Amino acid sequence: MADLSTPLKGILGPTAAKLKTSRGLGDVADFLTFLPRRYIDPATTTDLSALHEDEYTVVVATVRTATTRPMRQRRGTMLTVVVADKDGNEMTLTFFKPYGHVDRLRPGRTGLFAGKIQRYRSTWQLAHPNYELFDEEDADDALETYAGGLVPIYLEVPKLDSWNITKAARLVFHQLDDVPEPVPEELRSQRHLVGLLDAYKLLHLPRTWGDVKRGLDRLRYDEAFTVQAILAQRRIASEGLQTKARLPIAGGLLEAFDARLPFELTAGQQEVSAEIATDLANDHPMHRLLQGEVGSGKTVVALRAMLSVIDSGGQAALLAPTEVLASQHFRSITSMLGDLAEGGMLGGSEIGTRVTLLTGSQPAGIRRKSLLDAASGDAGIVIGTHALIQEHVQFFDLGLVVIDEQHRFGVEQRDALRSKGKQSPHVLVMTATPIPRTVAMTVFGDMETSTLTELPKGRSPIATHVVSNPRWFQRTWERVAEEVRAGHQTYVVCPRIGAVEVGSDSGSAATKGDWSDEDVEVAFDVDESALPSTRELRSVLEMEAELRDNPALAGLRIAILHGRMASEDKDEAMQAFAAGTIDILVATTVIEVGVDVANATVMVIMDADRFGISQLHQLRGRIGRGTSTGLCLLVTETESEAVRQRLNSVAATNDGFALARLDLEHRKEGDVLGARQSGGKSQLRLLRLLRDEDLIVQAREDAFAIVTADPGLEHHLDLRKVISSALDEEQAAYLERG
Ligand code: ADP
Ligand code: MG
Repeated sequence: MADLSTPLKGILGPTAAKLKTSRGLGDVADFLTFLPRRYIDPATTTDLSALHEDEYTVVVATVRTATTRPMRQRRGTMLTVVVADKDGNEMTLTFFKPYGHVDRLRPGRTGLFAGKIQRYRSTWQLAHPNYELFDEEDADDALETYAGGLVPIYLEVPKLDSWNITKAARLVFHQLDDVPEPVPEELRSQRHLVGLLDAYKLLHLPRTWGDVKRGLDRLRYDEAFTVQAILAQRRIASEGLQTKARLPIAGGLLEAFDARLPFELTAGQQEVSAEIATDLANDHPMHRLLQGEVGSGKTVVALRAMLSVIDSGGQAALLAPTEVLASQHFRSITSMLGDLAEGGMLGGSEIGTRVTLLTGSQPAGIRRKSLLDAASGDAGIVIGTHALIQEHVQFFDLGLVVIDEQHRFGVEQRDALRSKGKQSPHVLVMTATPIPRTVAMTVFGDMETSTLTELPKGRSPIATHVVSNPRWFQRTWERVAEEVRAGHQTYVVCPRIGAVEVGSDSGSAATKGDWSDEDVEVAFDVDESALPSTRELRSVLEMEAELRDNPALAGLRIAILHGRMASEDKDEAMQAFAAGTIDILVATTVIEVGVDVANATVMVIMDADRFGISQLHQLRGRIGRGTSTGLCLLVTETESEAVRQRLNSVAATNDGFALARLDLEHRKEGDVLGARQSGGKSQLRLLRLLRDEDLIVQAREDAFAIVTADPGLEHHLDLRKVISSALDEEQAAYLERG
């Protein structure tokens, strides 16, 4: 008898080598999860008018004629067989060694024909195809296999036709009478799910479409269930962690800050602040996701949480995905705090603290000082990039970690942070990308969620237009000039930095191992395959030169910003733009997240078709900051109707959640989750986050119930096994720690 780890070689003999070489299938588990891509119904012939040249194809067709004739160029005869579908569409099969085939391929016979199809003078042709007839007298098992059943079609395996894989499947199932069953019996009957082994059988050897559906239902459920069980374990592990409760105090920094806040908190901000305060007062670490539209005021909420932690004697770290954003946070937080950020300095507030910036590209001296401030506890707030979670950064008493723009950070990075303090710190994750419910459940399913739904009063909406007619391109720049003359500023966003890609050693300021701005810039979140690839994309450097030469913009002050600039230069450009001494900032997507210049009211996005829906929404959020109406122009030269449609939908609404759902429809789940973000190696293969929303909700309920009742999964050993093989070691270690 075989089990999941039995090598295929022992069961399948020479066939195993073909599966191994072309598809990497080594053992029974690999084979089971190598699912058919589709099925064909042998009772209905294939529509021969809808085939694709050069593709490996399997068709069901009926033989019409078979003719043998001598070959002209060489000795011997050649067999030409014409087969047809039910509508009379024909295909020609040619055999250069007719021996044996003539007898079998008689008119009227129906069967499967497989090979790479070619177009030859207006007819489809298969040269010496493999075939399997359904109604052969000396039937091996074709009749038995397919009578009333479906024919599974697999990804191409050279020298192995789909029906041979089906035969292999029979052999495998013959040897296999049991597989670990992660879903308990009771749950299976409650959810009307077949057993796991049965599900695989139904998918590899189906008789009806109903079989296929039952098999898929079970495997989809499994994907959701496993991910949710992992998340449930994480949740419980983090609840088991101890940390210091951070209780508010009277007369502290938070009170002083609130007293000088120039605006009133929105109702939503107050509500979320209260939720966070409750979490912080707990002695197990908070693990909360704060989502809210760009500009909804998340940073203020986070800052208030940081101040209350400082009040209770702890420190807070704020983590940003890029250096530009980290410096920006540093500037805006120090200015919001005013003398409250000058603790220990002459003229500073008595209760004040210190804010320090820590990035990978700081000069060594400054960096050393920052590290010291973090370690001594002198800095109440430490702001930085990914560099912050590197091993050697020590804190005196890290009470709270705030991660801004979470979608750039993975599960592992969250874990690394949590192990940073002497005790696990509280963690608050902020994201401006609205997250559809199922994604929230799947990627952030181990966290509590808060949402800021309203924007602070007095914001004007952004008007977005698609500019796809070249005649309007110059008008775009005239519009920019008008806006500048009215006292406002403009962003111009390009998908690339320069015309020629520069080697990594040339002027990149980012330290190795740090998460540089460049990483963010290349993270186009759009399905590359859907794009026309040949056109030259606009680059920051070319665009800058072009705009300088544009008479409409004569006399305007133009600067650039991109990830390959040295970090002082980046800072300088951002500060000049914030101070209003630059009119037009030509930039890459480094400005995507968090950059906050209220006076910038226009954004021109070049080659807008290169950006994903959520990314465009995120980008234009940069101009919704002040009280003047924002204008976003999506410039594109795309010819694709579908792509233009996508841009139009971004122009049509400012509702981030609606766009996030749309975005999901356009992307593959793997891209949304990141291969590793789904909580382990197991990518979602069959699950669709939108389509399977109900199923995910169910599986989540089920998994959480089971794990809550049995956190160590002592009574669910098969589930435990499945989970541990889905997780890599590092993650598993985290769960055990908890
Ligand atoms: P987010 O981080 O959610 O994008 P921010 O916290 O950066 O938003 O806030 C955007 C801008 O709105 C900032 O300039 C901030 O000072 C301001 N702001 C925040 N909360 C309020 C409020 N309740 N009323 C008015 N302005 C606010
Ligand atoms: Mg922000």
